[in-house]
Amino acid sequence: MFKKILIANRGEIALRVIRTCREMGIKTVAVYSKADAESLHARFADEAICIGPPPSAKSYLDIASIIAAAEITNADAIHPGYGFLSENAKFAETCQLNGLKFIGPSPDMINRMGDKSVAKETVKAAGVPTVPGSDGLIPDVKTGIKVAEQVGYPVIIKASAGGGGRGMRIIKSADAFEAAWDSAKQESKAAFGNDDIYLEKYIEEPRHIEIQIIGDQYGNVSHLSERDCSIQRRHQKLIEESPSPFMTEELRNKMGQAAINVAKAVNYEGVGTIEFLVDKHRNFYFMEMNTRIQVEHPVTEEVINYDLIREQIKVAAGVAISGNNYEPMKHAIECRINAEDPENDFRPSPGTITDLHKPGGHGVRVDTHIYAGYKIPPHYDSMIAKLIVSGNSREEAITRMERCLEEFVITGVKTTIPLHLKLMKDPDFRAGNFTTKFMETFKM
Ligand code: ADP
Repeated sequence: MFKKILIANRGEIALRVIRTCREMGIKTVAVYSKADAESLHARFADEAICIGPPPSAKSYLDIASIIAAAEITNADAIHPGYGFLSENAKFAETCQLNGLKFIGPSPDMINRMGDKSVAKETVKAAGVPTVPGSDGLIPDVKTGIKVAEQVGYPVIIKASAGGGGRGMRIIKSADAFEAAWDSAKQESKAAFGNDDIYLEKYIEEPRHIEIQIIGDQYGNVSHLSERDCSIQRRHQKLIEESPSPFMTEELRNKMGQAAINVAKAVNYEGVGTIEFLVDKHRNFYFMEMNTRIQVEHPVTEEVINYDLIREQIKVAAGVAISGNNYEPMKHAIECRINAEDPENDFRPSPGTITDLHKPGGHGVRVDTHIYAGYKIPPHYDSMIAKLIVSGNSREEAITRMERCLEEFVITGVKTTIPLHLKLMKDPDFRAGNFTTKFMETFKM
């Protein structure tokens, strides 16, 4: 087993990893930017190294500084968390070259799954259904229009390097194609430094349902059931839950097996998530694979009673998994709490948290790095906490979530707590009657 792990991340996920390492008897090294000098991950790790100024390009994305920090502290592995360098094949490779175990898949696996259009081809070859669309990248706007005619409108064009919903445009008819094409290309170039585009049929009123998997170094893969992430705003997840209210025993077995097939097709090692779109007839289509731990992983941890970070570290160290699949034993819901103003078009609301009271009690988990007096830096993601509750039924979990949101006090900044409270009371949400379009018509 590893003796010391460096965590190449910040915020709640850095804390999350430190907690499990503590329980496993593994020493930790935090890295932090100058904006995070007062942060809890820097305080709770066994050692902490400043790796640069506030902008992430000069700190959390600076590969050389992170590797140097690992060398100075004698770490033997690096946990990348999510975001930042977690899906960066070059980082995984640099770790390898420097004798550090990257806790995640190999650079080659990241490459094969990281490029969304390449991943689709790999998955198709493994016999898993994908959304109908272009065979790979689209060279120019003319070809795009031709492919769109063949596939049939509405279509969606997507950045192959995409993430966080950027570089995506829905197109309803041929006359809107060119303008959408230009703006998707521009956005993608600015966000990812790459403007490769592919095209898909736009699935109407779908659900976003993903399967958590884990694979070891010996070819065993297990699935750990699904998460429903259909409640999204601008293609970004707001609420996740497990099981999905739309799930059936039969569909779970089918999607679980499809996810395992995808992972096996690339000899996947580590924890990963296969994202699917599911239409109203319960047809499912592969969308993408995330080759890292995800924000919403606690939902799965709660329903199957399984520490995903612990198992992730164990498989990285060469421990074999059982290969069994898992069924949810409870119902869990996660609300992402962001420092944003839901009444003002979700404008970011950085600043100092003057007062804080976290909810508690049976079936309640709060994963957060904030504390009273904490100053939220403006440089990073606006998520400040994840509130996760579990119960014996969906109804019980929703009621508990409502109670917890009412108890949660964060003063000094605006947060999305009022939005979540409203969502919990919504009759359609409560009935499990929603698709990825839900937030488009939801009134704050
Ligand atoms: P990103 O990597 O940027 O998050 P994804 O490919 O995962 O992008 O898509 C994000 C969301 O966009 C999905 O959860 C879904 O709501 C919507 N979406 C993506 N592709 C399609 C499609 N073909 N049809 C309908 N909705 C889609």
